[in-house]
Amino acid sequence: MQKVPSGRGGIDFAEMKATTSLEATCVVCGGHGRPIADGRDYLYRTTRRAFQLRRCAQCKGEYIAPPLSAEEVVTFYPTTYYSYQEGGESFFAQLREDVVDSAYGKAHPRGVRRLLVAVGKRFLDGVPLRIFGEGRFLDVGCGSGANLKLLARHGWKAEGFEIGAANVRDDNIHVAPSLADANIVGSFDYVRVWHVIEHVPDPHGFLETLRKLTDKQGRVVFGLPNCGSLYARVFGRYWYNRDIPRHVFNYRPSTLRRALADHGFDVTRMTFRSCGGLLGSIQHILNRGGRNIDLINRSILVLLFWPFDLLCDALRVGDSIVVEARLKNEGQPSRPRFHRGTLTNR
Ligand SMILES: [Zn+2]
Repeated sequence: MQKVPSGRGGIDFAEMKATTSLEATCVVCGGHGRPIADGRDYLYRTTRRAFQLRRCAQCKGEYIAPPLSAEEVVTFYPTTYYSYQEGGESFFAQLREDVVDSAYGKAHPRGVRRLLVAVGKRFLDGVPLRIFGEGRFLDVGCGSGANLKLLARHGWKAEGFEIGAANVRDDNIHVAPSLADANIVGSFDYVRVWHVIEHVPDPHGFLETLRKLTDKQGRVVFGLPNCGSLYARVFGRYWYNRDIPRHVFNYRPSTLRRALADHGFDVTRMTFRSCGGLLGSIQHILNRGGRNIDLINRSILVLLFWPFDLLCDALRVGDSIVVEARLKNEGQPSRPRFHRGTLTNR
């Protein structure tokens, strides 16, 4: 989730040792968490501090203990944090545009571009493709709002939320310290929550707000890391998608399913979508002594390692999951508003 960069410029070499707290319980289920490792910020090195990781004995979620204060958390997001770097002209921004436009029949790429669009589509699960109509779309953690602009031109009434000091920008982006504080009005047909929930310190408050914002027949689509993945088990504290200390709580599929059920959501689809976790974890191990080797930003290496990611996904032990959830239909048979290619029942 994009954070407002701290005025400290990111790097904080304060020597602080994490204190252990026996009272640090799981924020998802209230269960007891057993310490599994101490880990550091291996990616951005915003601090030299060690953070204790715990795994909940009940829901198997993994979290940093003791919990971090809001003031601390902002210091762990450097100005170079990846979601600040949304280049409108980059190759990937253009590819995203091509994927959406071709899905809605407004572009017809050929040759290599067509192949790239087919591959790119795999990573756009959180964006509604080929659902036509006047639906309302909410992008939670929308960054600069690239998805909003893209979907608005295909008929969606699109709004976004981004964390920060409270205001509403002209381009339908609500900015507030939390989703609940944003006072977004009405309910949405499609809510995208992309690599956000693992940053949220109060998941139940967050999910309850999402419940209120979701239309009775709408859907919420989450993208998040899977701490039950093969790479998470093999690499432990060095697992790339553990992203200490920015991910305050990492979920397994069953952990998220349980949390969603508490707020009236049923999981209707779950797929695995890994990319780069193996290479990133190897990078963390190589850099643990203070080196600064960058593997993850070399596209050719990411491509070379991608078959391993695909294999993990096929075996359902992949690094990242896409979870679609809908509100339970209180006694009524589930009758989705959306069908592929059309928006019905409005
Ligand atoms: Zn738990």
